[in-house]
Amino acid sequence: MNILISGGCGFIGSHLCKKFIERGDFVLCVDNFITGSQENVSELLTSPKFKLLVHDISLPLYIREEINWVFHFASIASPKHYLAYPIKTLKSGLLGTHNCLGIARDKGAKFFLASTSEVYGDPLVHPQPEEYYGNVSITGPRSCYDESKRAAESLVYAYMRQHNINVRVSRIFNTYGPNMLPDDGRVISSFIVSALKEEDLTVYGDGLQTRSFCYIDDLVRGIIMLMDTDYQLPLNIGNPEEYRIIDLANKIIELTGSKSKIKFLPLPQDDPKKRKPDIRKAEKILGWSPIVKLEEGLVKTIEYFKKKLNL
Ligand code: UDP
Repeated sequence: MNILISGGCGFIGSHLCKKFIERGDFVLCVDNFITGSQENVSELLTSPKFKLLVHDISLPLYIREEINWVFHFASIASPKHYLAYPIKTLKSGLLGTHNCLGIARDKGAKFFLASTSEVYGDPLVHPQPEEYYGNVSITGPRSCYDESKRAAESLVYAYMRQHNINVRVSRIFNTYGPNMLPDDGRVISSFIVSALKEEDLTVYGDGLQTRSFCYIDDLVRGIIMLMDTDYQLPLNIGNPEEYRIIDLANKIIELTGSKSKIKFLPLPQDDPKKRKPDIRKAEKILGWSPIVKLEEGLVKTIEYFKKKLNL
């Protein structure tokens, strides 16, 4: 199989690259390093089956290789970074999806969009099933990410209807694990790095907002299972075990044995109050459900950051 992965040097993309190289596929990894890092794929660089192309996927890309699967993962996906680069975020969501769909059409490839739980915004339905249309601010600070992913889904289905492209769309809920950037501002990476450095953990708001955290290996398994079915509609992939952010902070302090304290900071605008995937469809269609418990995944992620930061 020849596989193109945009954002292949990013957190999730790099795990997919590794998985496909391990099973003998050829991987064309496309990344412009805005939030991806070459270190994430360093062990793959010597493989003759791995090719890294430094390119901004919001610009057109013409490639010679035959491609069977196109994954569009290039995205500025952490709130800290998309608030800093709102236009680039919109461009990778809109133009990047368009360019990747163009490649899939040209090559007759199956197309995968990495969509997000953010399409549900600050949800009024809990947990969130795929049928929920969401509660997204059109103009708020998070809209560059949310609306570009919503429009990306729309583009995918336009290509499916008009050009008969074979598509897969996964709405990915909060995922964590090795290869996250230590400074991406996301809650798990931030809390672990602060705890390891014995610095205060910054809880935004009262910490009673919730998220449901999926370990990277579970997500990658779900994505590959989705590619192997013929299900073309959006599918939630995430772990439905829901935690309050304050409880997550305390758990990370406990697991790292840190002396860090918790510091409360104002809640950012439009920060969703709760989030939890309804994964009944993934369970039924893929026979998939997450197996890694939060504590087990956190321990592995803590080990990763300890090594990465020499702590
Ligand atoms: N959060 C926090 N402290 C941090 C980073 C995040 O309290 O240092 C909170 C954030 O306000 C949100 C939740 O943790 O309620 C998850 O934030 P994250 O940036 O990981 O992603 P989101 O799920 O909001 O896209």
